Amino acid sequence: MRQANQLNIIDPVSKLPGVGEKNAQRMKRLGIFTVDDLVHYFPFRYDDLSQITNIRDLKTGGRYTISATITQKKLRGTRNPRFKILEALAHDNTGSIFLVWFNQPYLDEIFKIGATYLFSGTTTFYKTLQMQNPIWEETRPDPTHTGRIVPVYQLTAGIYPKWFRTLIKKVLSALPDLADPLPEEVRSGEKLIRHNDAIRTVHFPQSQPKLEQARYRLAFDELLFYQLKILLHKKQLKEATGIPIPFNREIAKKFVSALPFTLTDSQKIAAWEIIKDLSRAQPANRLLAGDVGSGKTVVAALATLQTLCAGRNAVFMAPTEILAKQHFETFTGLPEIKRFPIVLLTSSNTLLFEKNAVALVKKPQLLKMLPQINPFVLIGTSALIQKNTALPSFGLTIIDEQHRFGVQQRAKLAVRRLTRNETRLVPHFLSLTATPIPRTLALTLYGDLDVSQITQMPTGRKPVATAVVAEPEQARAFGEIEKQIKQGRQAFVVCPIIDPSDALGVNSATAEYERLKSEIFKTRRLGLLHGRLAPREKQKTITQFKNQELDILVATPIVEVGMDFPNATVMLIEGAERFGLAQLHQLRGRVGRSHHPSFCYLLAVNHSGKSRKRLEALTQHHNGLELAEIDLKLRGPGELYGRLQSGYPQFKIADVFDTDLLLKTHQHARAILEKYDQNSLPQLFAKIPYLHSETHPE
Ligand code: ADP
Ligand code: MG
Repeated sequence: MRQANQLNIIDPVSKLPGVGEKNAQRMKRLGIFTVDDLVHYFPFRYDDLSQITNIRDLKTGGRYTISATITQKKLRGTRNPRFKILEALAHDNTGSIFLVWFNQPYLDEIFKIGATYLFSGTTTFYKTLQMQNPIWEETRPDPTHTGRIVPVYQLTAGIYPKWFRTLIKKVLSALPDLADPLPEEVRSGEKLIRHNDAIRTVHFPQSQPKLEQARYRLAFDELLFYQLKILLHKKQLKEATGIPIPFNREIAKKFVSALPFTLTDSQKIAAWEIIKDLSRAQPANRLLAGDVGSGKTVVAALATLQTLCAGRNAVFMAPTEILAKQHFETFTGLPEIKRFPIVLLTSSNTLLFEKNAVALVKKPQLLKMLPQINPFVLIGTSALIQKNTALPSFGLTIIDEQHRFGVQQRAKLAVRRLTRNETRLVPHFLSLTATPIPRTLALTLYGDLDVSQITQMPTGRKPVATAVVAEPEQARAFGEIEKQIKQGRQAFVVCPIIDPSDALGVNSATAEYERLKSEIFKTRRLGLLHGRLAPREKQKTITQFKNQELDILVATPIVEVGMDFPNATVMLIEGAERFGLAQLHQLRGRVGRSHHPSFCYLLAVNHSGKSRKRLEALTQHHNGLELAEIDLKLRGPGELYGRLQSGYPQFKIADVFDTDLLLKTHQHARAILEKYDQNSLPQLFAKIPYLHSETHPE
């Protein structure tokens, strides 16, 4: 019997005692809406504070947890009337220690003389051995914040670690046993612990081995649900009816021979694969992968041309306005295609190219015109998928760098894809990515997609000379930057994160920008670019850099998005070991886009042999796919740098490069779909994310 005060997994968090509307709003920012979301919000790391040390055994400069009784305390004022210091003396059976808290006067009310607490912190020596600002909690059998393996969550402004931890603990204890989504034979066959135990353990582990079991179980679930999703998606597409676009050989030939260059063999093969896809009555679902600069656009253009010639509209979506504009300009200059209307639709730009002339047309008017100018190609950003934009139906949908779009936007696009077609025909779907897909991942990670890879670069590209430098040799990289600027060139400095963070221990873009500006490149013009700047600010900085009004652009990997700055010839990547090799390769693709020689310096803080070996691969290899394969081979399980990898599906707990688990869950997913369906195993099917999503999985 369920008790009245028992929680339900589907309850909104706002209903939890002590949460309230404000905190519920804040938690929404973390993607937490329901109790279910809350218990599936996993720690991003743990602090092992489970070892209790006797005060006698403490040494200066160590991180310890002690269990001690407060015997004296005093709240002291300072010259600043608002700044107070709380000092306390605490002892256990072996000795005593001095504890100090700065600027937390309320603690004076909380601590009771004679009560025993757990304190965790780093010891320092200032007149006597002491701990400053230790984390604390009353000593009890099952502590929450210290004296245990403590979960650490990625939180947002206004949500505090202690509050959040306490909330999760309360919720878990009030929550009835969680049903296991897995069929019992899979669970026991794989020797997995129960879902209910895994959820409880992942938040409050009793030991490291138990935590490992829980994480493995949850990673298994996550990958299995993902595999089920892509297999079901594949099945859905197989049953859908598409629009066959017959191969028009004549036009294809005309197009190719009028190009100012010859297609590479790789481009020809990819184009042929796509053309064959289009000619089928079943909707195509293909990923075209190729390094930055490998020439994906022209292949996409050929597919567009085929579609137009068959009397169907095509849509080409880019993640940013700059890219959309760039594609519009490219398309209006391409042979054959420019005989058709080409429309640009972004939030600030609506242009119509027709009969060799570009016209500015207001958006509502343009939308009204569209049905009359069939067939056309529509190029744009997510402004395309705003809900008040009614669009005609398309024969082909192309998405450039899909991982750059938000999940929400993709979901909306998905709905449009299914509903916009008055005939319920599903358009062919092609997405372009610079993220290479290693062979071993192609099946298990993208099982519902057909993949074409452009592995060759157009001739005449010079590889970027690349060197790995350890932190103390930074000056060498700065020297090269200075030299390049003197010759009139420009430089990038890329940092892995926006703001300083002690958790990662790497330079942040904001801090490095300040340091370089005030210490290293005092006379140079520096700009800062990261994802949190307002769009107008971003645009301004990009334009300044493009116009060569800046010498150095300090940025997060945001610069990876296909932007073209031919005058930039040197890039320094800080915290390089945090990135995947393929991503580093993409980043360095921002330089080396002119006839000038160009350079890339990989700055590594952690310079262990293995980390160096990984990065050294970049000095010899200049092909994204090869590098991705090497990365996969060299990496161990759970390596940190995977987290900064973009362009691959993002998992909460599973490792996207864990090929063993990917393969295992893939096989289970197949077997499960043969045996069960929504009715016979509802608890599992309810877990499959975005079951009806029409876009590629991320
Ligand atoms: P990406 O694959 O990064 O999207 P683009 O399609 O933007 O690359 O192509 C980069 C540049 O290379 C463009 O200026 C394009 O015109 C040019 N290009 C594409 N294919 C070839 C080729 N076969 N030979 C020479 N240049 C090419
Ligand atoms: Mg591109």
